[in-house]
Amino acid sequence: PSLEYEELRRKVKNNVKEMWYYFNAELDKVKKYADDFPLDKREKDIDDAIKNTWEHKKSLMNDLDKLMDADGHGEWREKESRELSDLVQRRFYHLQNPSDCNTAKKLTCSLNKGCGFGCQIHHLTYCFLVAYGTERTLILKSKGWRYHKDGWESVFKPLSDTCQSAGGSSHSNWPGDATKQVVSLPFVDNVYPKPIYQPPSIPADLAPRIQKIHGHPIVWWVGQVLKFLMRPQDNIKNVIDYSRDKLGFEKPIVGVHVRRTDKVGTEAAFHDIDEYMVKVDQYFNQLEVEPTVRRVFIASDDPKVILTARKRYTRYEIIGDPTVAETASVSKRYSDSSLHGIIVDINLLSMSDHLVCTFSSQVCRVAYELMQTYHIDAYDKFTSLDDSYYYGGQNANPYVAILDHVPRRVSEIELRIGDKIEVHGNHWDGYSKGRNMRSGVTGLFPSFKVKNPVAVADFPKYPQVPL
Ligand code: GDP
Repeated sequence: PSLEYEELRRKVKNNVKEMWYYFNAELDKVKKYADDFPLDKREKDIDDAIKNTWEHKKSLMNDLDKLMDADGHGEWREKESRELSDLVQRRFYHLQNPSDCNTAKKLTCSLNKGCGFGCQIHHLTYCFLVAYGTERTLILKSKGWRYHKDGWESVFKPLSDTCQSAGGSSHSNWPGDATKQVVSLPFVDNVYPKPIYQPPSIPADLAPRIQKIHGHPIVWWVGQVLKFLMRPQDNIKNVIDYSRDKLGFEKPIVGVHVRRTDKVGTEAAFHDIDEYMVKVDQYFNQLEVEPTVRRVFIASDDPKVILTARKRYTRYEIIGDPTVAETASVSKRYSDSSLHGIIVDINLLSMSDHLVCTFSSQVCRVAYELMQTYHIDAYDKFTSLDDSYYYGGQNANPYVAILDHVPRRVSEIELRIGDKIEVHGNHWDGYSKGRNMRSGVTGLFPSFKVKNPVAVADFPKYPQVPL
């Protein structure tokens, strides 16, 4: 290791200690306040402590970022990420372009799930993963799509140049067997037996490489599928580029997705734009160099969100198109213009430096997945106001305790190293809630005491595709 690396490493260690000394001393001070210590002074002390701790954290995070690049690790990571993506894309291309479509093994999947664009993209991704896992060329049925009657190819490149026909000598429903040429896959909600190839599993043969370059391997893997599936037709590429220029989408920029209309009160809680903007500020505040303008791209299915943000946040550059949001509202959603709108919004969100949204929305989860294709590792370039990341219909993937925890309050649960934990959610306050599968007890525990092991499954290794 270089001198720079060693010095940084020691600096980080020392400063974590300093942070603890400070934290401890401040809390001790607060504990010893006399009863008549004025309330406003108390508040001032606490506010100062929060600000100082924030600065501590900022400095530590910046040092860790430098550590990431030290000793050529940054360049290595970039190269490895490019080569790995390239390998995966070549395998996808190989799978989708068999030399003889008449005899090729196929998996058919209908795009028309009765749900929104994000949900349909996730449905298609699941089909693609099963196709990859069973080495069957995926044939997408998309005519009469609710977003565009001409189907998928009206906006995205066909999934194959050589094989788009669902014809074959023998047919079967999932799971079928090797003797059947064409297998049709149902929606994930009805699939039985459940394919091992669906999230959160990543292919065993690629796992060591993916884990090395990415902090959340399944998101990288899904992102690679989206990279292949969502290759825009030229007309859509032009629409994206045009919107980007017209809006003035330039870095640094935070992407904010605010999901309203039919989602609020049914599948997600209402969050005021101020809640998103607090997170936007936290992102900008932690940058080492303050940008000349705090630029924010807002996408929503409610135009009022963009208009309100512009009114309230005059010192920011708020970009976004209220007319696009208008076409996205629940009553106008399934049309050509709304299709263009959602594709542009998802792409721009994914090109942002940081994403603030609610992971309860599939729009935002798709943007986060696609974001991984624009960065080497954007696993932490998001703030979700509600859920942790998940993939709808995913196979179970419990967390594992890596440290013991003795509960200190009635709301907390005990952890013993190795316990399996079904995590219900991260409260983003240092604690997560979940059920300890050993004890059966549900409650809070410190988030840092668990980890989510990477789920791995044996996928075909595609030896025909050179490494
Ligand atoms: P979810 O319901 O939020 O989980 O996501 P879905 O994608 O399944 O359905 C929501 C649909 O609402 C999207 O597919 C869009 O048609 C529309 N929509 C939601 N948010 C936006 C947005 O920010 N921009 C645009 N253009 N459309 C949106």
